[in-house]
Amino acid sequence: MSIYQTIQDFVNIAIDNGTVEITDEIYLRNKVLQFLGIHDWKKVQKAKRIRKSLKVMDELLAYAEQNLLFDVTNAEFFESELMNFITPIPSKVNKAFWNLYRRGPEEATNYFYHLAKQVNQVKTRDIAKNIEFVYASKYGDLQITINLSKPEKDPKAIAAAKLVTQTSYPACQLCIENEGFYGVGSKPARSNHRIVNIELNGEFWGFQYSPYAYFDEHAIVLNHEHHPMVIDHQAFSNLLSFLDLFPQYMIGSNADLPIVGGSILTHDHYQAGKNGFPMAKANFRELVQLTKFPNVSAGIVNWPMSVLRLRSHSKIDLTEASDYILKLWKEYSDTSLNIVAKTSDGVLHHTITPIARMHDGQYEIDLVLRDNNVNEQFPDGIFHPHEEFQHIKKENIGLIEVMGLAILPARLKTELVEVEKYLLNEDNLIDDIHKPWADKLKATKKFTIEDVHTKVEEAVGEVFTNVLQDAGVFKDDEMGRIGFLKFIDFLNR
Ligand SMILES: [Zn+2]
Repeated sequence: MSIYQTIQDFVNIAIDNGTVEITDEIYLRNKVLQFLGIHDWKKVQKAKRIRKSLKVMDELLAYAEQNLLFDVTNAEFFESELMNFITPIPSKVNKAFWNLYRRGPEEATNYFYHLAKQVNQVKTRDIAKNIEFVYASKYGDLQITINLSKPEKDPKAIAAAKLVTQTSYPACQLCIENEGFYGVGSKPARSNHRIVNIELNGEFWGFQYSPYAYFDEHAIVLNHEHHPMVIDHQAFSNLLSFLDLFPQYMIGSNADLPIVGGSILTHDHYQAGKNGFPMAKANFRELVQLTKFPNVSAGIVNWPMSVLRLRSHSKIDLTEASDYILKLWKEYSDTSLNIVAKTSDGVLHHTITPIARMHDGQYEIDLVLRDNNVNEQFPDGIFHPHEEFQHIKKENIGLIEVMGLAILPARLKTELVEVEKYLLNEDNLIDDIHKPWADKLKATKKFTIEDVHTKVEEAVGEVFTNVLQDAGVFKDDEMGRIGFLKFIDFLNR
């Protein structure tokens, strides 16, 4: 296919998705020609159908690479800028989104999500590289993902990024100032990123899809201001208000303390997307009463972490109850269970990971009790994956893991193959960190060439269950259950 035909196909995608109107066709074509260093035009056939945008992108990038228009140090920026040609400008996206919203919130998010995939802002092909499997735990099916979607950076690109003077603009990856940002050094390419503006309780927030999604329609809700994560009355209220706008989605926030929070604490943000997480499917272990909130029903969820689930028709009551529980949790200690709200140095250790969703017409919020304290026995965190499980997961147990979806490091893809060989007594390069675990498996199970892969996956799922149990403040045992009920009494005193 000639480069001219490919360019015309690219322009056709833009006309089809509303980026430009037919009046702009020649203009856009000339802009793309210039971008690709071409200074003439040969008439091509009118295409009968719209081609897949990523296929056309590949052809244009291959042409640009042959003609040395970019190198590894700016490949990411170049690609994003190329796709920006077929991405409608923010005002058009916002207008289209809110026009469709009048027909229903799902019409609007369907449009926005489809567009994000079409212009490769959501990187579907990279996401498809992830390894995913399900582990049937006693708490229900847990989802395990070995995360291979983030491409490894070329060493030359890393070296080049180091040479670039670091600027403070945009202040971080989650700032709304990234919309359309070309990228520089280690600051990612955002030319083709678009943000829909939403309002939550009188505050302005941005709504966008995550480039390397961990789950279906994984969206990020960004505060317009660059200020730190905070879980408080306003946060609970914001999460529930989001459900008024998009009742088809769940929304949650990472906790606002290190060790138990997510990777970015410096910029207030939430994560939303399609429902269906394992935790949402878990039932109550025990119903409880919150005597101060008669319009809120509550229960302890049958889950490895410590989860109070509240439901109400009233958003206000639910916000008040959540805030009340947070405030009391922040001062609650039970030294018999190693739970200490405030250490002698005056540092506070308690917070909540909240997740909200609609349930049969009621608002529902899961309050996951968190404690980031450390001690001599557990220097990485008392309620953090303990050392014996860190060969699989040593990163924070953030919002997504809390809900029963493990995001495991890419290194496991190759490391687990060696574990399999080790279990089959074949020549192997097993990493020492996996040996104690593999030896235990060897001692308790028999492995054959046919079942070793499935059995190792199961064993990984078991480790993830243990990791979640480590992160639970009230353990799923007799003492933990009594402890949890003592906390409920404290709430009702
Ligand atoms: Zn920021």
